[in-house]
Amino acid sequence: MKSQSIHFKSRSSAALDNPVLQQNLRQFGSGGLALLRARAVEAYGPAQFEGLRDAAKAIRERALDNLAVWLEKFETQAKARGATVLYAETAEEASDLVVEISRRHGVKKVVKSKSMVSEEAGLNEALAAAGVTPIETDLGEYIIQLAGEAPSHIIAPAVHKSKDEVSDLFERHHHTPRKTDIPAMTREAREVLRSHFLSADMGISGGNFLIAETGSGVIVTNEGNGRMVTTLPRVHVCITGIEKVIPTLEDLSTLLRVLTRSATGQAISNYVSFFTGPRRQDDVEGPEHLYFILVDGGRSNLVGSDLHDMLRCIRCGACMNHCPVYKTVGGHAYGWVYPGPMGSVLTPAFDGIENALDLPQAATMCGACSVVCPVKIPLPDLLRTLREKQVDLGLRPWQERVAMRLWFWFAQRPALYALATRIGVRVLKLLGNRDGMIARLPFGSGWTEAKNGGRFMPAPEGRTFRERYAAMRR
Ligand code: SF4
Repeated sequence: MKSQSIHFKSRSSAALDNPVLQQNLRQFGSGGLALLRARAVEAYGPAQFEGLRDAAKAIRERALDNLAVWLEKFETQAKARGATVLYAETAEEASDLVVEISRRHGVKKVVKSKSMVSEEAGLNEALAAAGVTPIETDLGEYIIQLAGEAPSHIIAPAVHKSKDEVSDLFERHHHTPRKTDIPAMTREAREVLRSHFLSADMGISGGNFLIAETGSGVIVTNEGNGRMVTTLPRVHVCITGIEKVIPTLEDLSTLLRVLTRSATGQAISNYVSFFTGPRRQDDVEGPEHLYFILVDGGRSNLVGSDLHDMLRCIRCGACMNHCPVYKTVGGHAYGWVYPGPMGSVLTPAFDGIENALDLPQAATMCGACSVVCPVKIPLPDLLRTLREKQVDLGLRPWQERVAMRLWFWFAQRPALYALATRIGVRVLKLLGNRDGMIARLPFGSGWTEAKNGGRFMPAPEGRTFRERYAAMRR
Protein backbone atom coordinates (compact mmCIF):
# COMPACT_ATOMS: atom_id res chain seq x y z
CA MET A 1 0.00 0.00 0.00
CA LYS A 2 1.45 3.32 -1.05
CA SER A 3 1.87 5.61 1.92
CA GLN A 4 0.09 8.97 1.93
CA SER A 5 1.36 9.85 5.40
CA ILE A 6 3.21 12.91 4.12
CA HIS A 7 -0.24 14.46 3.61
CA PHE A 8 -1.34 13.97 7.22
CA LYS A 9 -2.25 17.64 7.73
CA SER A 10 -4.43 17.97 4.63
CA ARG A 11 -6.01 14.56 5.25
CA SER A 12 -6.76 15.58 8.86
CA SER A 13 -8.36 18.82 7.65
CA ALA A 14 -10.52 16.85 5.22
CA ALA A 15 -11.52 14.50 8.06
CA LEU A 16 -12.48 17.45 10.27
CA ASP A 17 -14.56 18.90 7.42
CA ASN A 18 -16.47 15.65 6.90
CA PRO A 19 -19.61 15.83 9.10
CA VAL A 20 -20.57 12.17 8.57
CA LEU A 21 -17.11 10.98 9.57
CA GLN A 22 -17.11 13.31 12.58
CA GLN A 23 -20.45 11.89 13.69
CA ASN A 24 -19.15 8.31 13.29
CA LEU A 25 -15.96 9.16 15.18
CA ARG A 26 -17.92 10.81 17.98
CA GLN A 27 -19.93 7.63 18.35
CA PHE A 28 -16.72 5.57 18.41
CA GLY A 29 -15.00 7.92 20.86
CA SER A 30 -17.91 8.12 23.27
CA GLY A 31 -17.06 4.83 24.91
CA GLY A 32 -17.04 1.76 22.74
CA LEU A 33 -13.89 -0.29 22.90
CA ALA A 34 -12.20 1.92 25.50
CA LEU A 35 -15.11 1.46 27.87
CA LEU A 36 -15.18 -2.30 27.30
CA ARG A 37 -11.46 -2.49 28.07
CA ALA A 38 -11.92 -0.50 31.29
CA ARG A 39 -14.69 -2.85 32.43
CA ALA A 40 -12.60 -5.93 31.59
CA VAL A 41 -9.62 -4.60 33.57
CA GLU A 42 -11.86 -3.78 36.51
CA ALA A 43 -13.37 -7.28 36.43
CA TYR A 44 -9.94 -8.92 36.23
CA GLY A 45 -8.56 -6.74 39.02
CA PRO A 46 -6.45 -3.68 38.12
CA ALA A 47 -3.46 -4.84 40.18
CA GLN A 48 -3.56 -8.33 38.68
CA PHE A 49 -3.88 -6.85 35.20
CA GLU A 50 -0.73 -4.82 35.81
CA GLY A 51 1.03 -8.08 36.65
CA LEU A 52 -0.30 -9.59 33.44
CA ARG A 53 1.00 -6.64 31.42
CA ASP A 54 4.45 -7.10 32.99
CA ALA A 55 4.40 -10.80 32.13
CA ALA A 56 3.25 -10.08 28.56
CA LYS A 57 6.01 -7.51 28.13
CA ALA A 58 8.61 -10.00 29.40
CA ILE A 59 7.40 -12.69 26.98
CA ARG A 60 7.60 -10.37 24.00
CA GLU A 61 11.05 -9.19 25.14
CA ARG A 62 12.29 -12.77 25.47
CA ALA A 63 11.13 -13.54 21.94
CA LEU A 64 12.70 -10.39 20.48
CA ASP A 65 15.99 -10.82 22.35
CA ASN A 66 16.58 -14.03 20.39
CA LEU A 67 14.38 -13.46 17.38
CA ALA A 68 16.57 -15.43 14.96
CA VAL A 69 16.65 -18.43 17.31
CA TRP A 70 12.88 -18.56 17.73
CA LEU A 71 12.27 -18.07 14.02
CA GLU A 72 14.61 -20.93 13.27
CA LYS A 73 12.85 -23.11 15.81
CA PHE A 74 9.46 -22.16 14.35
CA GLU A 75 10.67 -22.98 10.84
CA THR A 76 12.04 -26.38 11.91
CA GLN A 77 8.82 -27.32 13.70
CA ALA A 78 6.53 -26.04 10.94
CA LYS A 79 8.49 -27.91 8.27
CA ALA A 80 8.49 -31.08 10.36
CA ARG A 81 4.69 -30.92 10.24
CA GLY A 82 4.60 -30.49 6.48
CA ALA A 83 4.26 -26.70 6.14
CA THR A 84 6.43 -24.56 3.87
CA VAL A 85 8.11 -21.54 5.44
CA LEU A 86 9.18 -18.67 3.21
CA TYR A 87 10.79 -15.36 4.11
CA ALA A 88 10.18 -12.03 2.39
CA GLU A 89 12.58 -9.17 2.87
CA THR A 90 10.00 -6.61 1.78
CA ALA A 91 6.21 -6.50 1.78
CA GLU A 92 6.25 -6.37 -2.03
CA GLU A 93 8.34 -9.54 -2.09
CA ALA A 94 5.66 -11.18 0.06
CA SER A 95 3.04 -10.23 -2.54
CA ASP A 96 5.17 -11.78 -5.28
CA LEU A 97 5.46 -15.00 -3.27
CA VAL A 98 1.68 -15.21 -2.79
CA VAL A 99 1.09 -14.62 -6.50
CA GLU A 100 3.65 -17.32 -7.31
CA ILE A 101 1.93 -19.77 -4.94
CA SER A 102 -1.47 -18.99 -6.47
CA ARG A 103 -0.07 -19.68 -9.97
CA ARG A 104 1.53 -22.93 -8.83
CA HIS A 105 -1.78 -24.20 -7.49
CA GLY A 106 -4.00 -22.85 -10.27
CA VAL A 107 -5.83 -20.49 -7.90
CA LYS A 108 -8.61 -18.30 -9.29
CA LYS A 109 -10.29 -17.10 -6.10
CA VAL A 110 -8.86 -16.29 -2.66
CA VAL A 111 -10.76 -15.77 0.58
CA LYS A 112 -8.93 -13.63 3.12
CA SER A 113 -9.25 -13.11 6.82
CA LYS A 114 -7.81 -9.92 8.26
CA SER A 115 -4.08 -9.38 7.73
CA MET A 116 -2.47 -5.99 8.23
CA VAL A 117 0.76 -7.27 6.65
CA SER A 118 -1.17 -8.01 3.45
CA GLU A 119 -2.26 -4.36 3.52
CA GLU A 120 1.42 -3.38 3.80
CA ALA A 121 2.08 -5.56 0.77
CA GLY A 122 -0.83 -4.25 -1.32
CA LEU A 123 -1.71 -7.91 -1.75
CA ASN A 124 -5.24 -7.52 -3.09
CA GLU A 125 -4.03 -5.31 -5.94
CA ALA A 126 -1.20 -7.76 -6.76
CA LEU A 127 -3.61 -10.71 -6.80
CA ALA A 128 -6.14 -8.88 -8.95
CA ALA A 129 -3.36 -7.93 -11.40
CA ALA A 130 -2.46 -11.64 -11.61
CA GLY A 131 -6.07 -12.58 -12.46
CA VAL A 132 -6.94 -13.86 -8.97
CA THR A 133 -10.05 -12.55 -7.21
CA PRO A 134 -9.44 -11.70 -3.54
CA ILE A 135 -12.50 -11.62 -1.26
CA GLU A 136 -12.19 -10.11 2.21
CA THR A 137 -14.30 -12.10 4.68
CA ASP A 138 -13.90 -10.21 7.95
CA LEU A 139 -17.13 -8.16 7.99
CA GLY A 140 -15.35 -4.83 8.46
CA GLU A 141 -12.77 -5.66 5.79
CA TYR A 142 -15.55 -6.85 3.47
CA ILE A 143 -17.37 -3.52 3.91
CA ILE A 144 -14.32 -1.45 3.08
CA GLN A 145 -13.43 -3.70 0.15
CA LEU A 146 -16.89 -2.95 -1.29
CA ALA A 147 -16.27 0.75 -0.62
CA GLY A 148 -12.81 0.60 -2.23
CA GLU A 149 -11.19 1.96 0.92
CA ALA A 150 -8.37 1.02 3.27
CA PRO A 151 -8.94 -0.01 6.92
CA SER A 152 -9.19 2.89 9.34
CA HIS A 153 -8.58 0.84 12.49
CA ILE A 154 -6.52 -2.30 12.95
CA ILE A 155 -9.24 -4.35 14.63
CA ALA A 156 -12.35 -2.46 13.53
CA PRO A 157 -11.48 -1.60 9.93
CA ALA A 158 -14.86 -0.02 9.05
CA VAL A 159 -15.32 1.95 12.27
CA HIS A 160 -15.47 5.16 10.22
CA LYS A 161 -18.62 3.98 8.44
CA SER A 162 -22.16 4.58 9.66
CA LYS A 163 -24.91 1.99 9.46
CA ASP A 164 -26.58 4.00 6.67
CA GLU A 165 -23.41 4.04 4.62
CA VAL A 166 -23.11 0.27 4.97
CA SER A 167 -26.80 -0.16 4.03
CA ASP A 168 -26.18 1.82 0.83
CA LEU A 169 -23.11 -0.25 0.01
CA PHE A 170 -24.90 -3.57 0.50
CA GLU A 171 -27.88 -2.43 -1.56
CA ARG A 172 -25.60 -1.35 -4.40
CA HIS A 173 -23.32 -4.40 -4.40
CA HIS A 174 -25.68 -7.18 -3.34
CA HIS A 175 -28.56 -5.95 -5.54
CA THR A 176 -31.01 -6.62 -2.74
CA PRO A 177 -33.62 -4.36 -1.09
CA ARG A 178 -31.99 -1.89 1.32
CA LYS A 179 -31.83 -3.14 4.90
CA THR A 180 -31.21 -1.08 8.00
CA ASP A 181 -31.49 -3.77 10.64
CA ILE A 182 -27.94 -4.77 11.64
CA PRO A 183 -28.61 -8.52 12.20
CA ALA A 184 -30.36 -8.66 8.80
CA MET A 185 -27.44 -6.87 7.14
CA THR A 186 -24.95 -9.22 8.79
CA ARG A 187 -27.00 -12.23 7.67
CA GLU A 188 -27.01 -10.94 4.12
CA ALA A 189 -23.21 -10.48 4.12
CA ARG A 190 -22.82 -13.94 5.59
CA GLU A 191 -24.93 -15.48 2.83
CA VAL A 192 -22.90 -13.73 0.15
CA LEU A 193 -19.61 -14.76 1.76
CA ARG A 194 -20.61 -18.37 2.30
CA SER A 195 -20.56 -19.16 -1.43
CA HIS A 196 -17.09 -17.62 -1.66
CA PHE A 197 -15.80 -19.77 1.22
CA LEU A 198 -17.03 -22.87 -0.60
CA SER A 199 -15.69 -21.94 -4.03
CA ALA A 200 -12.30 -20.41 -3.12
CA ASP A 201 -9.11 -22.26 -4.05
CA MET A 202 -6.92 -20.54 -1.51
CA GLY A 203 -7.27 -18.95 1.94
CA ILE A 204 -5.02 -16.16 3.20
CA SER A 205 -4.83 -15.16 6.84
CA GLY A 206 -2.61 -13.03 8.97
CA GLY A 207 -1.07 -14.45 12.10
CA ASN A 208 -1.51 -12.93 15.54
CA PHE A 209 1.22 -15.21 16.81
CA LEU A 210 3.59 -17.92 15.60
CA ILE A 211 4.41 -20.59 18.17
CA ALA A 212 8.04 -21.69 17.91
CA GLU A 213 7.73 -24.90 19.93
CA THR A 214 4.94 -26.34 17.75
CA GLY A 215 5.38 -24.55 14.41
CA SER A 216 1.76 -23.31 14.63
CA GLY A 217 0.14 -20.13 13.40
CA VAL A 218 -2.54 -18.57 15.63
CA ILE A 219 -5.31 -16.16 14.70
CA VAL A 220 -7.65 -14.47 17.14
CA THR A 221 -11.05 -13.56 15.66
CA ASN A 222 -14.66 -12.96 16.59
CA GLU A 223 -16.53 -13.88 13.44
CA GLY A 224 -15.50 -17.42 12.56
CA ASN A 225 -14.41 -16.34 9.09
CA GLY A 226 -10.79 -16.97 10.02
CA ARG A 227 -11.57 -20.60 10.82
CA MET A 228 -13.25 -21.10 7.42
CA VAL A 229 -10.44 -19.32 5.59
CA THR A 230 -7.86 -21.57 7.25
CA THR A 231 -9.71 -24.86 6.82
CA LEU A 232 -11.95 -24.89 3.71
CA PRO A 233 -9.75 -23.98 0.70
CA ARG A 234 -7.18 -26.53 -0.50
CA VAL A 235 -4.27 -24.08 -0.07
CA HIS A 236 -3.65 -21.84 2.90
CA VAL A 237 -1.14 -18.99 3.17
CA CYS A 238 -0.43 -17.27 6.47
CA ILE A 239 1.32 -13.96 5.90
CA THR A 240 2.66 -12.17 8.95
CA GLY A 241 5.60 -10.20 10.36
CA ILE A 242 8.75 -11.93 11.61
CA GLU A 243 8.29 -10.33 15.03
CA LYS A 244 5.10 -12.32 15.73
CA VAL A 245 6.98 -15.42 16.86
CA ILE A 246 6.78 -16.38 20.54
CA PRO A 247 8.50 -19.30 22.20
CA THR A 248 5.74 -21.49 23.69
CA LEU A 249 2.02 -22.24 23.98
CA GLU A 250 2.31 -21.26 27.64
CA ASP A 251 3.42 -17.79 26.49
CA LEU A 252 0.40 -17.63 24.21
CA SER A 253 -1.99 -18.22 27.11
CA THR A 254 -0.64 -15.10 28.86
CA LEU A 255 -0.65 -12.96 25.73
CA LEU A 256 -4.22 -13.97 24.85
CA ARG A 257 -5.39 -12.77 28.26
CA VAL A 258 -4.05 -9.27 27.67
CA LEU A 259 -4.77 -9.12 23.94
CA THR A 260 -8.51 -9.73 23.99
CA ARG A 261 -9.14 -7.64 27.10
CA SER A 262 -7.16 -4.73 25.66
CA ALA A 263 -8.72 -5.00 22.20
CA THR A 264 -12.42 -5.59 22.82
CA GLY A 265 -12.77 -6.06 26.57
CA GLN A 266 -13.42 -9.77 26.12
CA ALA A 267 -11.97 -12.37 28.48
CA ILE A 268 -11.39 -14.44 25.34
CA SER A 269 -12.37 -13.88 21.72
CA ASN A 270 -15.05 -16.05 20.10
CA TYR A 271 -12.44 -17.97 18.12
CA VAL A 272 -8.78 -18.70 18.69
CA SER A 273 -7.66 -20.81 15.71
CA PHE A 274 -4.42 -22.75 15.48
CA PHE A 275 -3.05 -24.17 12.25
CA THR A 276 -0.24 -26.67 12.53
CA GLY A 277 0.81 -28.29 9.27
CA PRO A 278 -1.46 -29.16 6.33
CA ARG A 279 -4.29 -31.72 6.57
CA ARG A 280 -3.11 -35.18 7.63
CA GLN A 281 -4.57 -38.44 6.41
CA ASP A 282 -7.11 -38.79 9.21
CA ASP A 283 -8.03 -35.11 9.45
CA VAL A 284 -11.59 -34.26 8.45
CA GLU A 285 -10.67 -30.75 7.36
CA GLY A 286 -7.74 -28.47 6.61
CA PRO A 287 -5.76 -27.37 3.57
CA GLU A 288 -3.65 -29.76 1.48
CA HIS A 289 -0.87 -27.17 1.38
CA LEU A 290 0.12 -24.76 4.13
CA TYR A 291 2.54 -21.87 3.60
CA PHE A 292 3.90 -19.37 6.09
CA ILE A 293 5.29 -16.16 4.60
CA LEU A 294 7.27 -14.28 7.23
CA VAL A 295 7.81 -10.68 6.29
CA ASP A 296 10.66 -8.47 7.44
CA GLY A 297 9.56 -5.21 5.80
CA GLY A 298 11.85 -3.06 7.97
CA ARG A 299 11.34 -4.98 11.21
CA SER A 300 14.86 -6.34 11.57
CA ASN A 301 16.20 -2.75 11.34
CA LEU A 302 14.32 -1.99 14.55
CA VAL A 303 15.88 -4.84 16.54
CA GLY A 304 18.28 -3.27 19.04
CA SER A 305 17.51 0.24 17.77
CA ASP A 306 16.04 3.08 19.82
CA LEU A 307 12.61 2.02 18.47
CA HIS A 308 13.12 -1.63 19.45
CA ASP A 309 10.27 -1.53 22.02
CA MET A 310 7.76 -1.04 19.20
CA LEU A 311 8.36 -4.61 18.03
CA ARG A 312 6.55 -5.85 21.14
CA CYS A 313 3.24 -4.64 19.66
CA ILE A 314 0.55 -7.31 19.54
CA ARG A 315 -1.82 -5.18 17.40
CA CYS A 316 -4.64 -4.85 19.95
CA GLY A 317 -5.64 -1.33 18.90
CA ALA A 318 -6.01 -0.06 22.49
CA CYS A 319 -3.63 2.86 21.89
CA MET A 320 -5.80 4.28 19.11
CA ASN A 321 -9.02 3.67 21.06
CA HIS A 322 -7.66 6.00 23.75
CA CYS A 323 -5.88 8.55 21.55
CA PRO A 324 -7.54 12.00 21.37
CA VAL A 325 -5.92 12.66 17.98
CA TYR A 326 -7.08 9.37 16.45
CA LYS A 327 -10.56 9.85 17.87
CA THR A 328 -10.74 13.29 16.22
CA VAL A 329 -9.32 12.65 12.75
CA GLY A 330 -9.86 8.89 12.31
CA GLY A 331 -7.51 6.33 10.82
CA HIS A 332 -7.43 7.38 7.15
CA ALA A 333 -5.77 10.69 8.01
CA TYR A 334 -2.61 8.77 8.97
CA GLY A 335 -2.24 7.72 5.34
CA TRP A 336 -0.88 4.21 5.69
CA VAL A 337 -1.72 0.80 7.15
CA TYR A 338 -1.24 1.58 10.84
CA PRO A 339 -3.07 4.55 12.39
CA GLY A 340 -3.02 6.08 15.86
CA PRO A 341 0.00 6.21 18.17
CA MET A 342 1.37 2.83 17.09
CA GLY A 343 1.13 3.94 13.46
CA SER A 344 2.86 7.21 14.23
CA VAL A 345 5.87 5.15 15.29
CA LEU A 346 5.62 2.27 12.80
CA THR A 347 5.02 4.32 9.65
CA PRO A 348 8.18 6.46 9.93
CA ALA A 349 10.08 3.37 11.10
CA PHE A 350 8.99 1.21 8.12
CA ASP A 351 8.49 3.81 5.42
CA GLY A 352 11.12 6.42 6.27
CA ILE A 353 11.00 9.30 8.71
CA GLU A 354 11.01 11.81 5.81
CA ASN A 355 7.80 10.28 4.41
CA ALA A 356 5.78 10.74 7.59
CA LEU A 357 6.94 14.12 8.84
CA ASP A 358 3.83 15.04 10.82
CA LEU A 359 3.03 11.69 12.43
CA PRO A 360 5.41 11.95 15.40
CA GLN A 361 3.88 15.41 16.02
CA ALA A 362 0.32 14.03 15.83
CA ALA A 363 0.19 13.37 19.55
CA THR A 364 -0.82 15.38 22.58
CA MET A 365 1.68 13.39 24.68
CA CYS A 366 -1.09 12.75 27.19
CA GLY A 367 0.36 9.28 27.75
CA ALA A 368 -2.97 7.41 27.57
CA CYS A 369 -1.60 5.09 24.86
CA SER A 370 1.26 3.79 26.99
CA VAL A 371 -0.98 3.45 30.06
CA VAL A 372 -3.29 1.04 28.20
CA CYS A 373 -0.73 -0.76 26.04
CA PRO A 374 -0.84 -4.43 27.10
CA VAL A 375 2.89 -4.89 26.48
CA LYS A 376 3.92 -1.57 28.02
CA ILE A 377 5.34 0.07 24.92
CA PRO A 378 6.45 3.60 25.93
CA LEU A 379 4.77 5.19 22.90
CA PRO A 380 5.24 8.86 23.95
CA ASP A 381 8.98 8.19 24.48
CA LEU A 382 9.24 6.62 21.03
CA LEU A 383 7.40 9.56 19.48
CA ARG A 384 9.80 11.91 21.24
CA THR A 385 12.74 9.88 19.90
CA LEU A 386 11.36 10.31 16.39
CA ARG A 387 10.94 14.05 16.97
CA GLU A 388 14.60 14.26 18.06
CA LYS A 389 15.66 12.37 14.94
CA GLN A 390 13.71 14.83 12.81
CA VAL A 391 15.56 17.72 14.43
CA ASP A 392 18.93 15.97 13.98
CA LEU A 393 18.16 15.38 10.31
CA GLY A 394 17.09 19.01 9.80
CA LEU A 395 13.56 17.95 8.92
CA ARG A 396 11.73 20.49 11.08
CA PRO A 397 10.72 23.95 9.78
CA TRP A 398 13.25 26.75 10.36
CA GLN A 399 10.84 28.67 12.63
CA GLU A 400 10.64 25.69 14.97
CA ARG A 401 14.39 25.23 14.98
CA VAL A 402 14.96 28.92 15.76
CA ALA A 403 12.38 28.79 18.57
CA MET A 404 14.07 25.73 20.07
CA ARG A 405 17.49 27.38 19.94
CA LEU A 406 16.08 30.49 21.55
CA TRP A 407 14.51 28.47 24.31
CA PHE A 408 17.80 26.54 24.76
CA TRP A 409 19.70 29.82 25.08
CA PHE A 410 17.30 31.20 27.69
CA ALA A 411 17.11 27.93 29.62
CA GLN A 412 20.86 28.10 30.20
CA ARG A 413 20.51 31.55 31.79
CA PRO A 414 18.13 31.10 34.77
CA ALA A 415 17.83 34.77 35.72
CA LEU A 416 17.05 35.81 32.16
CA TYR A 417 14.69 32.84 31.77
CA ALA A 418 12.77 33.84 34.91
CA LEU A 419 12.50 37.43 33.66
CA ALA A 420 11.35 36.34 30.19
CA THR A 421 8.67 33.98 31.57
CA ARG A 422 7.47 36.69 34.00
CA ILE A 423 6.98 39.07 31.10
CA GLY A 424 5.48 36.26 28.97
CA VAL A 425 2.71 35.27 31.41
CA ARG A 426 1.76 38.90 31.98
CA VAL A 427 1.46 39.52 28.24
CA LEU A 428 -0.61 36.33 27.87
CA LYS A 429 -2.90 37.49 30.69
CA LEU A 430 -3.50 40.76 28.85
CA LEU A 431 -4.41 38.80 25.71
CA GLY A 432 -7.24 37.02 27.55
CA ASN A 433 -10.82 38.19 27.05
CA ARG A 434 -13.36 38.87 29.79
CA ASP A 435 -13.78 35.14 30.35
CA GLY A 436 -10.04 34.69 30.72
CA MET A 437 -9.66 32.93 27.36
CA ILE A 438 -7.19 33.72 24.58
CA ALA A 439 -8.79 33.62 21.12
CA ARG A 440 -5.61 34.13 19.10
CA LEU A 441 -2.13 33.22 20.26
CA PRO A 442 0.67 35.24 18.63
CA PHE A 443 3.49 32.98 17.31
CA GLY A 444 1.33 29.96 18.11
CA SER A 445 -1.78 30.43 16.01
CA GLY A 446 -1.86 26.69 15.29
CA TRP A 447 -3.10 26.19 18.84
CA THR A 448 -5.99 28.63 18.59
CA GLU A 449 -6.91 28.58 14.89
CA ALA A 450 -9.36 25.80 14.25
CA LYS A 451 -12.37 24.92 12.18
CA ASN A 452 -15.76 26.19 13.27
CA GLY A 453 -14.64 29.45 14.84
CA GLY A 454 -11.39 28.58 16.53
CA ARG A 455 -10.25 27.11 19.80
CA PHE A 456 -9.69 29.08 22.97
CA MET A 457 -6.72 28.81 25.27
CA PRO A 458 -7.13 29.66 28.95
CA ALA A 459 -5.09 32.76 29.81
CA PRO A 460 -2.66 32.36 32.73
CA GLU A 461 -3.45 34.26 35.91
CA GLY A 462 -0.44 36.56 35.38
CA ARG A 463 2.18 34.89 37.60
CA THR A 464 4.68 32.19 36.69
CA PHE A 465 4.72 28.82 38.43
CA ARG A 466 7.85 29.88 40.32
CA GLU A 467 6.14 33.03 41.61
CA ARG A 468 3.09 31.09 42.70
CA TYR A 469 5.21 28.42 44.35
CA ALA A 470 7.27 31.03 46.22
CA ALA A 471 4.05 32.78 47.35
CA MET A 472 2.59 29.50 48.51
CA ARG A 473 5.73 28.68 50.54
CA ARG A 474 5.57 32.11 52.17
S1 SF4 B 1 1.19 -0.29 20.60
FE1 SF4 B 1 0.34 -1.41 22.37
S2 SF4 B 1 -1.73 -0.62 22.56
FE2 SF4 B 1 -1.05 -0.07 20.48
S3 SF4 B 1 -1.72 -1.74 19.19
FE3 SF4 B 1 0.36 -2.23 19.83
S4 SF4 B 1 0.11 -3.51 21.67
FE4 SF4 B 1 -1.85 -2.48 21.32
